[in-house]
Amino acid sequence: MTMVDRKVCNAATGKKSTSRCYICGATSKDFIKLDYTRDVNFAALEFGISVLHARIRIFECILHLAYKLQVKKYRGRKSKEEKDLEDKTKKEIQTRFRTETGLIIDMPKSNFGNTNDGNTSRRFFENPKLAAEITGINYELIYRLKVILEAISSGFKIDPVKYERYALETARIYVNLYDWHPMTPTMHKILVHGAVIIEKALLPIGQLSEEAAEARNKHFRCYRQDFARKFSRKDCNQVIFNRLLLSSDPLLSSIRTVKKRKAETFLPETLAMFVSAESNILSENSSESDEET
Ligand SMILES: [Zn+2]
Repeated sequence: MTMVDRKVCNAATGKKSTSRCYICGATSKDFIKLDYTRDVNFAALEFGISVLHARIRIFECILHLAYKLQVKKYRGRKSKEEKDLEDKTKKEIQTRFRTETGLIIDMPKSNFGNTNDGNTSRRFFENPKLAAEITGINYELIYRLKVILEAISSGFKIDPVKYERYALETARIYVNLYDWHPMTPTMHKILVHGAVIIEKALLPIGQLSEEAAEARNKHFRCYRQDFARKFSRKDCNQVIFNRLLLSSDPLLSSIRTVKKRKAETFLPETLAMFVSAESNILSENSSESDEET
């Protein structure tokens, strides 16, 4: 269930509005209240944390916050000057990203969606100093979000207590600086419910990413366009399914040569959040010596 997207999560948990948190039911005005106990719907935790989309959504949240930074109004009535100022800021940010990093940000694409995809958001967080300078958003906040995203997408086991401390402190920084712009439901989920989702997940949370399913989208398009019969929708889907099954067959997958990935390096803050192999050995040794005594 960790591969489904947020629309499915909302539908499956009976939440009609996408602006509500599907885990605790809070709306965007409640997201700024950090110190109250929430009724957590434990069944909703099986949807995981959707690491890949989390990075895109958090990146967009920072962008939209940056566009409004000078007007300091989230919704509601805006004068013409305020609207113009917002548009002007948006254009300036887009131009600077394009000239200084080559990134095309927040532009519609000709066929589907917009340019805010996994790669753009990854590149944005690669250089938090420049991102902070261009957007005008607090550097520490962007850096901390980078650490959190790095930790949850790493595939290593995370200590939920350390994660919670770090995430809540980050949420506090956000609320202190930008209380006029509520967090998005995704940012709320990552910062407020992240620890409990990590704790309840059977595997390290980064291994439950929806990346594998997303990587098949391009195959899906190719199989439909070049290999499927088009005279009936049913037959078309049947051919696509067969081909997806064929190409994901364990035997065929095991024959395929796997590209070696570059060894990852982590930020010190991210490393500190991992459950280290050393501490596991230490706790095992101490329990052994307890038994002896
Ligand atoms: Zn919530």
